Amino acid sequence: MSDNITDWNWPLPDGGTTEFSFSLHRLQGIEHQRIEANMQETASNTHATRTVIELRKKIFSGELTGGTRLLEVPLAEELEISRTPLRDAMSRLAEEGLLERGRHGGFVVRKFTYADVIDAIELRGVLEGTAARLAAERGMRPDGLSCIQAVVARLENCFGEQPGEVDFEAYSKYNAEFHQELAALSGSDMIEREVERVTRLPFASPSAFMPDKADIAAFRRSLHVAQEQHKAIVSAISAREGSRAEALAREHARTARRNLEVVMTEGGMLKERVPSLALVVP
Ligand SMILES: [Zn+2]
Repeated sequence: MSDNITDWNWPLPDGGTTEFSFSLHRLQGIEHQRIEANMQETASNTHATRTVIELRKKIFSGELTGGTRLLEVPLAEELEISRTPLRDAMSRLAEEGLLERGRHGGFVVRKFTYADVIDAIELRGVLEGTAARLAAERGMRPDGLSCIQAVVARLENCFGEQPGEVDFEAYSKYNAEFHQELAALSGSDMIEREVERVTRLPFASPSAFMPDKADIAAFRRSLHVAQEQHKAIVSAISAREGSRAEALAREHARTARRNLEVVMTEGGMLKERVPSLALVVP
């Protein structure tokens, strides 16, 4: 059988024709090229994602401090990747707000002040408040309420019989889930995206100032208060009380701010145990 699977005569507007001859080999070749291009793209994406994680770690640990200019060539060598995925990774971190574009091109690690941290937490409160209000006023997707209630129940199980007994790791995980569900309940892609964006700043995330702080009584107490707030937010949403749901969600974000204040006033060891504070310039 011939490899020529078709000869196409395409009529042109002036009545003439143009001939396209496709051979099976050529089609296979095109398909092969397409698969290879896809594979290269996927590999480059994987490298970029790995680099995002690596760079984020360096920034949070303080190895790359605010104001540091990232030089492509030495950084690519150090991370053993080519410059395209590196540039890709840096663009993503700029989008997250951890890097900014330098005046003469390239990227610089962003500096944050204490006021920036406060503002980021405040902004999360505003966005989550709006999400809670919209969920209450516009109504939720059918399984929305049961999903978030299940998360609240899982959070409840993180508390032990003894007062002050908390599984911090599990609490931190389910707390993040609660906040994702809350943003999704708004039914607004735009709100959900913006909540996700502000939450990516490490000190603005709902769990920024609480995991692994079992030895600080104020933190332990704050988790009980926070869990009561989770329940109150869900009950206000299910009762379609928009203003109350909004106020509660904003107040809930304030808990993170109070925990930050504890960290800042206690200082010393405690400050070192909140890695994201390495980003904050005094
Ligand atoms: Zn929470």
